[in-house]
Amino acid sequence: MKTIDLTSLKVVTEGDIEAAAADGAGEIAVLERAIVTPSAKDALDRRGIGLRRGAAGGAAAGVDPSRIALFNSREAAAIKEEICAVGRKLWMRQYVDGNGGNISYRIGPNEVICTPTLVSKADLRPEDLSMVDLDGKQLAGGRPRTSEILLHLEIYKAVPEAKGVVHCHPPHATAYAITGKVPPTCVIPEYEVFVGKVAISPYETPGTAAFARTVIPYVRTHNTILLSNHGIVCWGDTVTHAEWYAEVVDTYCWTLMLAAQLGTPLSHIADNKAADLLEIKKKLGLPDPRHEDSSCAVCDLPARPGEIAIDPPPGSGPTRAEVDELVKEITERVMAALKERA
Ligand SMILES: [Zn+2]
Repeated sequence: MKTIDLTSLKVVTEGDIEAAAADGAGEIAVLERAIVTPSAKDALDRRGIGLRRGAAGGAAAGVDPSRIALFNSREAAAIKEEICAVGRKLWMRQYVDGNGGNISYRIGPNEVICTPTLVSKADLRPEDLSMVDLDGKQLAGGRPRTSEILLHLEIYKAVPEAKGVVHCHPPHATAYAITGKVPPTCVIPEYEVFVGKVAISPYETPGTAAFARTVIPYVRTHNTILLSNHGIVCWGDTVTHAEWYAEVVDTYCWTLMLAAQLGTPLSHIADNKAADLLEIKKKLGLPDPRHEDSSCAVCDLPARPGEIAIDPPPGSGPTRAEVDELVKEITERVMAALKERA
């Protein structure tokens, strides 16, 4: 049964019911104290639509009504549909098992729509999604947010261009992530343009703030990161594009594995041709450490011909400025903790 969320309305009219009916409502959710006009009640009876009062739309106590309106807006409805479609793609491509994986979209400066915890990405419905602020506090939504939202939020905080984030466990890319190795570059043009040099972040316990922070040094210059002993995370200007990068990296890893079975060394795209691809990438506005650091080699080739897994290049690590930033942050935290004790 489809529930249409009308919790942004203080007064629910017949017109609202008719619009909900046209959207295929089996039930509407309204605020605890919303006024439902007599003609709206008649319309509910006539259409056989149920009425649910209370925080069915999941508005958390004290949340600004404008934020709830944003969560229930047409723009949000389209994003929720897109997230559900991406969830189905991830499940059908076997990138998520059980309730694994999560998807989010930054819809406002401090508002992010995300998938809930403990729901298979194949079964996602728009009404299952939640909205949180950049601290991870749930603002709205019928179900509790994913525990991995902190990872997504660190990306949004670090990269203003990031609007959509997808985290999943695609088997071939995850195979690299459990060996601590990355694929070489300069083999397939599409991979070079859409992903390219992939970074690998250190292992931390999933769902923790420490885990979320492991990607900070890499996210500005990489749209795709292998998460050690875990999976991958991708960001893009939309959730659809973030999911594309997951497809591109997993297929690339898979193709390399297949090529390795042929027993013939890989051939690589020449440096000057690879530079053309980097130019295309720059024009598309896609990040790459090679755009910013001219000392970074265009192609990362394996030490021995035929190898399909190499050590992560030093260029994918944190820059000096990022290390300084991290030291400053840690120092400030230590000082604050000491102050608290005093
Ligand atoms: Zn995961």
